Amino acid sequence: MTMNLKNKPLSFWRRLAKAQIHEHIDCSLRPYSMLDMWSKVGFETSKLTFPAEIVALWQGQGKENLSAEKRGAFIAHSRRKAAQLYSDWVSSYAKESLNNYLAAIGFHVLPLMHDMDNLTRIVRERIEDAVKDGHIAIELRFAPQLHTGPTGSENSLDDVMKATIAGLKGSPIPVKLIVCALRHENGEVADKLADLAIKYHRYVGKFDLAASETTFPGVLQWWIPAARKVKAAGLDLTIHLWETNEPTDEDILELDAIGIKNVGHGVRGLRQGGRVIEVCLTSNVVTGQYATYADHPVDSHYRSGVRVTLNTDGTLFTQTTLSLEYQRVADTFGWTAADFLAVNIIAVEASSFSASVKRKLIAQFKRSYKAL
Ligand SMILES: [Zn+2]
Repeated sequence: MTMNLKNKPLSFWRRLAKAQIHEHIDCSLRPYSMLDMWSKVGFETSKLTFPAEIVALWQGQGKENLSAEKRGAFIAHSRRKAAQLYSDWVSSYAKESLNNYLAAIGFHVLPLMHDMDNLTRIVRERIEDAVKDGHIAIELRFAPQLHTGPTGSENSLDDVMKATIAGLKGSPIPVKLIVCALRHENGEVADKLADLAIKYHRYVGKFDLAASETTFPGVLQWWIPAARKVKAAGLDLTIHLWETNEPTDEDILELDAIGIKNVGHGVRGLRQGGRVIEVCLTSNVVTGQYATYADHPVDSHYRSGVRVTLNTDGTLFTQTTLSLEYQRVADTFGWTAADFLAVNIIAVEASSFSASVKRKLIAQFKRSYKAL
């Protein structure tokens, strides 16, 4: 378990068992599926101006004289190339700041997620991809209020929950949802979301506060009553914090008063205490929080005893996977199997799965990492 895991190929990391507790559904779509969904919405009718090359590749323009069989292979190849270019284009929107990252969700993702069949498909595909990437458990978060339709009244919050839950059906791994209130919203919305999380508690494990910490910093007062309501109903809490801003005395007092033990990102400053921090390494580099992986404090936090977990935040805008995150941590900081086992056990302990699921997962991790 002390073996140096530097320079291992990605296939090694993909096979390794992993648990994740911080990934946004609306940041983790397959680029190929997005183009498929956009082609039904209409490339021309969207508010985005799609690069002509991507549209032409997706539509399989050119080589019209080929035989049916060869034409099919040409279109398949052409669409894969379109998906790669689209992935690059989407991710270029998200670079340099958290606000750019959030704007990219609005432009590229949300119009597709107003459709409830798309929403189910997106959730199902995300779980399929996570399993292929070696996840043995995952918590997926989302803001149901963003999927109620272009005017906000086409789908009810219940419709959104049902479509999302339909995507969990048949999952070979344990999955829990996290409901996110957003920093630019208000107490009325948060209260509705708290009720929603409680109503669907079989599937929802936690309640979160997400979106722009840069614009709306701190533990927002209007979110606190909803958070307390969810906690009183037996669900867990987490909050995006200390991603772009330094910890303050007020933050610490509020987290202690509400009893919040999980912090999304949570990497800034040195005031994590015994809290679990949901580290999203590549996301922080992409949004410009740290210039390079080596500058990121994940390793120094871990070595000083902070309860660190490794997560993607999302796979789309950052073009990452959890396997890639592990590879980057190993290559940059020289983590061993014992280190990766430790952060997975922390992730399971901090998850909202039942005690018996947690026990099974921890046993599975110990078996899996002992072999290294
Ligand atoms: Zn996040």
